[in-house]
Amino acid sequence: MPATASLAAREQMLVMYCPGPGRALVAENRPVPEPGPGEVIVRILACGVCRTDLHLQDNELENIQYPAVPGHQVVGEVWACGPGTRLAKGQRVGAAWLAWTCGECDFCLRGEENLCDQAQFNGYQRDGGYAEYLRAQADYLIPLDSALDPAHTAPLLCGGLIGYRTLRMAGDARRLGIYGFGSAAHLITQLARHEQREVFAFTRPGDESAQDFARSLDVSWAGGSDESAPVALDAALIFAPVGDLVPLALRAVRKGGRVVCGGIHMSDIPSFPYADLWGERQLRSVANLTRRDASEFMALAARYPIHTRITRYPLEAANEALTDLREGRISGTAVLTVSG
Ligand SMILES: [Zn+2]
Ligand SMILES: [Zn+2]
Repeated sequence: MPATASLAAREQMLVMYCPGPGRALVAENRPVPEPGPGEVIVRILACGVCRTDLHLQDNELENIQYPAVPGHQVVGEVWACGPGTRLAKGQRVGAAWLAWTCGECDFCLRGEENLCDQAQFNGYQRDGGYAEYLRAQADYLIPLDSALDPAHTAPLLCGGLIGYRTLRMAGDARRLGIYGFGSAAHLITQLARHEQREVFAFTRPGDESAQDFARSLDVSWAGGSDESAPVALDAALIFAPVGDLVPLALRAVRKGGRVVCGGIHMSDIPSFPYADLWGERQLRSVANLTRRDASEFMALAARYPIHTRITRYPLEAANEALTDLREGRISGTAVLTVSG
């Protein structure tokens, strides 16, 4: 699409939507939405591709309303503002998974808006970023420095934020295992190394390229998830959607250690002996994220900084990006680039 705001571009936008369970995305031109009260329209520059987008396509999230537009790692510019918004036109912003919460329930009032029962999410209940424009609640957008490269910043908004919340749940663990070395892992490994933690990376058995990638990020050890860690871990983070990893990770952590599941979806966890949980080991999940997570993590990412490894695809090639992700052909994060 043209870089300038032509009238034609303003009226129509390209959207890549999923028409139903298991179906490939379909390209469609739709009218650019109008912003309602408290909303803005974001002109999208880049949108990351996430495993959750595959879960949306595969009908593995609850109550998906098809047709659905995936995408929840959006970097763009404020294009139009509805009444009552404080953002300025042209301002660089990010849109992540959390799109809206009620603000009134016990969870919201306790600062746990990530657990709000009525929460809505971009690229799930709301049309997401596989498009040229996004309609969003202004208060849920993340202000970004316009000097940041959009495509390299997009992965921070999901893998980075979820990874950050997952890492925080691990407390002050010094010896950290990471299972599943994809987008979240490669970002959070960098943060963990800045924090002087030792990282032990577990990949799919035999996945030499993922193990080499992990070693390039200065991990202490990289191997297959079928291998034992060389030391007892203080905590393990699981980013792969594979329930079989949970008992393995519990056996890899020391007494009192924690296993944190960072994914939104996971296959069933096989039964395991109580002895693997015994010794005050803890197992917990991470659900969604809060706006506070976003502001804390983006501040850290600006300070260190955190490098993202990306593979670019034009928006029109979203199906190819999803297939490459599904088949494990992407190291780092796939990013759809929009608007040139
Ligand atoms: Zn995601
Ligand atoms: Zn709420």
